[in-house]
Amino acid sequence: MSDEHVSDAVVDNGNSVLRVRGVTRAFARQNGEPLKVLEAVDLNLGKGEIVGLLGRSGSGKSTLLRIVAGLIRATSGQVLYRGAALSGPAEGIAMVFQSFALFPWLTVLQNVEAGLEAQGLARDEMRERAESAIDLIGLNGFANAFPRELSGGMRQRVGFARALVTDPAILLMDEPFSALDVLTAETLRTDFLDLWTEGKLPIQSVLLVTHNIEEAVFMCDRILVFSSNPGRVTAEIKVPFKHPRNRLDPRFRQLVDDIYARMTVRTKTGAATVLSIGERLPEVSTNLLAGLLENLAAEPYRGRADMPAIASALALEVDELFPIAEALQMLGFAELISGDILLTPLGHEFAEAGMQARKHSFARQLLTRIPLAAHIKGVLDDRPGHRAPSVRFLSELEDHLSDSAAEQTLRAVTMWGRYAEIFTYDDEAEAFDLEIPESEQA
Ligand code: ADP
Ligand code: MG
Repeated sequence: MSDEHVSDAVVDNGNSVLRVRGVTRAFARQNGEPLKVLEAVDLNLGKGEIVGLLGRSGSGKSTLLRIVAGLIRATSGQVLYRGAALSGPAEGIAMVFQSFALFPWLTVLQNVEAGLEAQGLARDEMRERAESAIDLIGLNGFANAFPRELSGGMRQRVGFARALVTDPAILLMDEPFSALDVLTAETLRTDFLDLWTEGKLPIQSVLLVTHNIEEAVFMCDRILVFSSNPGRVTAEIKVPFKHPRNRLDPRFRQLVDDIYARMTVRTKTGAATVLSIGERLPEVSTNLLAGLLENLAAEPYRGRADMPAIASALALEVDELFPIAEALQMLGFAELISGDILLTPLGHEFAEAGMQARKHSFARQLLTRIPLAAHIKGVLDDRPGHRAPSVRFLSELEDHLSDSAAEQTLRAVTMWGRYAEIFTYDDEAEAFDLEIPESEQA
């Protein structure tokens, strides 16, 4: 997949409400070295559009949104709004959070009024506006309820009302539906889109952050695909369908498929040198890995599956399927090609093998393809007592990864190494021990 569309995202169409220019953001790691989370991000929000920012978890989407909201600063680059560079929270930009972020000790009405606090309005006007936002979003009759008395869907409606009450020109949404169950999420999406298409919202432009491809295609006019490590816009996809959209329309399905393909990272295969010790590993259990291999080998896939199809057959979300598929690819059990996942001959063998043969195959792949696993084994081999504290490997990983990614990677290699019976992990001592085959034990 090429990057040829990227430039479109930054072309000034004369219709721009907000622009992000060359935004970079780094955080300090524990060792003091900077971790680059966003690199040279450009985007443009035009009047009358819903723009999606679609990326995997940890790719820096929330960080970018917080920068656009003026809540944190960019390390370099600018956000241009109303002809000026943003330097803090600005009037006219409001945000809806994934976690709702309500005050539990305030009623619905008071929570919504809190959105207006900064504007210094008279009491009566504040109340009036809060009440009309509450009506607009379908919270009538709940003004005096407390958040704990509401369902998740109603709580997020309060989150929307608190953002809408300010009459924002730009609405930023950070995965606002991802904490809700499927039906509730769909109702709220549809209600929001109805208000939007009927022109009942004064909003000029929406920026929706999501990891959910279907949601992006369902809601957005334009989707920016966001890469990880560091986060960057790598493709722009126009969604040519009118609202209300039909998820079952073959053209809708095709676009979802195309985006899956674009988001499928294809690592070079073959040479074991592709990965470094500091490569982030997806934290996926060996049960999930074996489960996907078995499903892929069986009917109706027989070794090749369309990613969206197998995800929905296994009731997995994109965010859950990708890491499993990626781990299988890293280990050489599967290949990801244009939105499909294919078993390799080794993957087929694994699916059909018994427990001991599986462990052997897994151990071989782990040691030849995951340098971190080989490194840990090498250290344990050399050490007297064949033991090494985990902190030693963690600090090595932190030279390459964020602290949380380093911990996650170490947990992944621990699960995999245990399963492969290469090493064991002593939770209490927080140390690795070499696994000594029974035949060699005294
Ligand atoms: P997303 O929203 O796409 O899941 P985030 O923007 O939340 O991603 O995080 C991106 C990366 O930045 C992660 O590796 C996260 O650990 C790191 N990060 C986010 N905020 C901070 C912070 N305040 N300090 C250090 N690292 C951070
Ligand atoms: Mg986020």
